[in-house]
Amino acid sequence: MTPPAPLRLPQPDEALDWFRDRTSAGLDTARELVAGLRDAPPSGAEEVLRRWDEVTLELSNVGALASLLSNVHPQVEVRTACEEAEVELDKLATELRQDRALYDVFAALDATGLDATAARLLAKTLEEFRRSGVDQDDETRRRLAEISERITTVDQEFSRNIRDDVRTVRVTPDQLAGMPVDWVEAHPADAEGLITVTTDAPDAVPVRMFARDADVRRQVAIAFLERGWPDNDALLKELFDLRHEYANLVGYSDWASYDAAVKMIEKGPAIPEFIDRIAQAAQEPMERDLAVVMECYRREVPDAQAIDAADASYYQELVRKEQHDVDSQRVRTYFSFEKVRQGLLEVTGRLFGLRYEPALDAVPWHEDVAAYDVYSAAGDGTAEAGESLGRIYLDLHPREGKYKHAAQFTITNGVAGRQLPEGALVCNFSKGLMEHDHVVTLFHEFGHLVHHLLGGHVGWTRFAGVATEWDFVEAPSQMLEEWAWDAEVLQTFATDASGEPIPADLVDRMRAADDFGKGMYARQQMFYAAVSYWFHTERPADLTAKQIELQERYSPYRYIDDTHFFANFGHLGGYSSAYYTYMWSLVIAKDLFSAFDPDDLFAADVAGRYRDRVLAPGGTKDAADLVADFLGRPYTFDAYAAWLER
Ligand SMILES: [Zn+2]
Repeated sequence: MTPPAPLRLPQPDEALDWFRDRTSAGLDTARELVAGLRDAPPSGAEEVLRRWDEVTLELSNVGALASLLSNVHPQVEVRTACEEAEVELDKLATELRQDRALYDVFAALDATGLDATAARLLAKTLEEFRRSGVDQDDETRRRLAEISERITTVDQEFSRNIRDDVRTVRVTPDQLAGMPVDWVEAHPADAEGLITVTTDAPDAVPVRMFARDADVRRQVAIAFLERGWPDNDALLKELFDLRHEYANLVGYSDWASYDAAVKMIEKGPAIPEFIDRIAQAAQEPMERDLAVVMECYRREVPDAQAIDAADASYYQELVRKEQHDVDSQRVRTYFSFEKVRQGLLEVTGRLFGLRYEPALDAVPWHEDVAAYDVYSAAGDGTAEAGESLGRIYLDLHPREGKYKHAAQFTITNGVAGRQLPEGALVCNFSKGLMEHDHVVTLFHEFGHLVHHLLGGHVGWTRFAGVATEWDFVEAPSQMLEEWAWDAEVLQTFATDASGEPIPADLVDRMRAADDFGKGMYARQQMFYAAVSYWFHTERPADLTAKQIELQERYSPYRYIDDTHFFANFGHLGGYSSAYYTYMWSLVIAKDLFSAFDPDDLFAADVAGRYRDRVLAPGGTKDAADLVADFLGRPYTFDAYAAWLER
């Protein structure tokens, strides 16, 4: 059998027609398959499920590319067409999941004789139908469909407001004292002698960290915190109300409970319990480290009682430099982008038994994007040597109209013998020297991509790649970050201009410096998680007041008057009430990592077992079972708690 070929993307100037044709063809095929399934279903449960998975494949092919291209395509018409396709797709998906006649086909199936994965698919399918209100009366179903459609539109508008709201601060060159030389060189003064600093990450992050001028830091921090304000305030309120109504209509007390029912955490009220458990564990480490930062801060602002987001990065960086002798500007000299990208491929290739080759026939959507074909390296036992595992695209630099964060996007879901998995990393890194933080982010996002690829061979679209519970999905990525903190690993690619590898003692100090503040970080994350949970469950009339209340309860940083961080907290869209998932996953990531030997991170038996038992099964089992298969026991809180106290 010929293995499936990668998807051929169009030349950027032919993208609009190509995308429209592909979308309508995909949706038409899905509709035809559904009509057949509804009106003349095949006999046999397995055959029905196979047809249904073909529908899922068609819809996911349309949806994945719409989501990616709406965020990265250089032409605004293509991005708009993609957003329209997403609306149409969501509408169809809702229509299908509310289709009573279709539901009856599945409900009548006899699961006897199905294997465990097919039986799981049937159970999940029935659950998805019920969560969409298929068993409700006509009027309720009509309202649910209306809500779903409106949620998609509101969410898009919310994201677009953040993406398009790039603010700028103009300053004189001497106000930028303290900034790295290469950054200054890349930002020449304009005709009026001023330098423009934008709220995009490659500007805002280093300026808040390095600029000695407190006023500049404050201006940039405030501009950053104000993105999306005021437009997103009303949109968010509408979004929370819509989600609440939806949850009520399908039998849940609130959106968080509806959302948690398909996650590892299972129950909505378990979320604030988890938040408080972490906040409690992080209390002492936070106070310990905050005292050190405040001592440093008071040398310049003697009567300071608290520190806020305009000064926090700068003084934490100063503490790192003074107490741990880590000069981030020196660290950067070891991380030139090209070497990091190559190093990442070599490290992950060695760890997971993969080989990457430039995909010469690929047609990326922009000249900055690099494409690779991924092959299984020889002799890894699970796949034949040289077998193609999929294709990846790395879109790693900022440009106008492009997604502002860092994320992995699916291009195609892999189904054994049917379709190769393909995915893209979309990030915003400098083309020159990188912060080590960004290197860690790159490893993190690549963790999702590798999960997507390795889990993309299970035979069912529904369970392809990262199709695990959402509160588990960060764990493999968070674990892969550890490889970006290991001296021996870094020395294989992190060399300065003269070719000298990064010194091991510098990496040790970087780790100590990174450990510094982890209690503060955990508390800040719990602030975000609390915003995500309480905004959805309480639906406060005054979002700003609720933000302030939660910030005071959880965050180590004081609120800056008249700022509205939630207006650009993009995760309120996709993660909704479940931002706790980052920390939940981290608890599991620390437990997973405890199985590796810190002196030999590439030990083939552990890495292979991890790849085969955690990543390769995709969503075919509950995440808790995948983790237990790998660890030989259920996951616990212990490794995380020990790490936090260290
Ligand atoms: Zn992630």
